[in-house]
Formats: sequence, C-alpha cells, structure tokens
Amino acid sequence: MSGTLFIVTAPSGAGKTTLVRGLLERDPQVQLSISYATREPRPGEKNGREYHFVDVPTFRALRDRGEFLEWAEVHGNYYATSKVWLKEQIEQGRDTLLEIDWQGAQQVRKVFPAAVGVFILPPSLDELENRLRGRGTDSDDVINRRLLGARGEMRHVAEFDYVIINNELQVALEDLVAVVRASRLRNANQHQRHPQYFDFLEQD
Ligand code: 5GP
Repeated sequence: MSGTLFIVTAPSGAGKTTLVRGLLERDPQVQLSISYATREPRPGEKNGREYHFVDVPTFRALRDRGEFLEWAEVHGNYYATSKVWLKEQIEQGRDTLLEIDWQGAQQVRKVFPAAVGVFILPPSLDELENRLRGRGTDSDDVINRRLLGARGEMRHVAEFDYVIINNELQVALEDLVAVVRASRLRNANQHQRHPQYFDFLEQD
C-alpha cells in the first residue's frame, strides 16, 4: 500500500505554514515531514517540531552519507528532507506532506512521480511584502532577501499540479483540503486502497 505524497511550495510570506497547519487540524490522516535546517530557530520554534535544527558540518555529514531525499540552499541556509523516514511512511500508506521549495520539489518528483504538487500564490507581491514585514520575526536584510527569492520561486508555478491563491485564508484552506481529498480519490489510489470494490472487474 502506498500513501499519497503532497508537496506544498510557496514564496515565504504566502501563508504556507498557516495553511498547512489548518490542513493538519482538519485532516488528521495527513502528516508533515520534519525537514532538516541549518538556520537559527525563530522565537517559539522547537527542535524536532518545526525542523531538525542542525549546524552546517552536521548537515554536510548527513548529506554526504546519503541521508537526504533532496536538499537545497534557500535564502542562504540549507534545508533537506530525510530519505529513509519518508520512504517508509509512503510505503506504509501514510499520506505525507512536504513543505519545501521549488528546487526540492523538482528532486522529489524524480523519485516520486505520483507526488501531488501544490503551489500557494500570494494575491500580489506588495501583499507578500506587507505580510513578511508584519511577521516581525526577521531582520530587514532577511526580508529583502526573501522578497527577491519570492519572484524566483513564483516563476516555477507551472511545475505544480494545483495552484491555490491565498487571498482569503478560509477559502484557501478549503481549497487545500479539497485538493487533498480529490487526490485520495485518484483511480490508482482507490484501486490500491480498496481492492474489494473493484472485484467486479474480475467477474466476467
Ligand atoms: P523557513 O526558513 O521560512 O522555514 O523556510 C524557508 C524555505 O525553505 C521555504 O521556502 C521552505 O519551503 C523551504 N524548505 C523548508 N524545508 C525544506 C526542505 O526540506 N527542503 C527544501 N528543498 N526546502 C525546504
């Protein structure tokens, strides 16, 4: 049995984390993959919950040992997805969601071509800047770097199966819940998860 793998990508400030948190509350069948990150934890973040926070030498050692399914440098920090853990989850039938950037998404698609890609767009670049500044957790320098990165990220929107425009949070959340539900109903998925309903195919 195999679980569905979801990749959710967005420029930072588009509301990805809030939307994903909302999805996990609404749909307990979906679990989140905890990435490795070399950046400093933000206030309120806990090691092992938002990320496995590691220093650069540790990150490189894990990478060189082949522990990562994908890795990327984003805004000057390294991020990666654990390979063994994710493969196990998908093989055991657990729907798992990756919150990763476009570079990671490209690498994951090569290994899991059935992964469902979702891109979250902010209503505009101005709105994105307001949100990033309003968050108050990052320095001006970090915010400016992220704004530059946002345009680059958004150029990859066409590589994703679904696009959610986060204009109104509740609407966007409903959209994300709908994408997850619809993905579960894909023919191959249903056939594999509920073979008994397909018995009639054998009957003539
Ligand atoms: P933040 O530092 O704001 O939590 O995340 C910054 C960026 O890193 C986001 O665009 C996020 O999607 C990306 N990111 C987080 N984890 C991973 C990961 O495991 N792999 C890749 N490729 N990108 C990640």
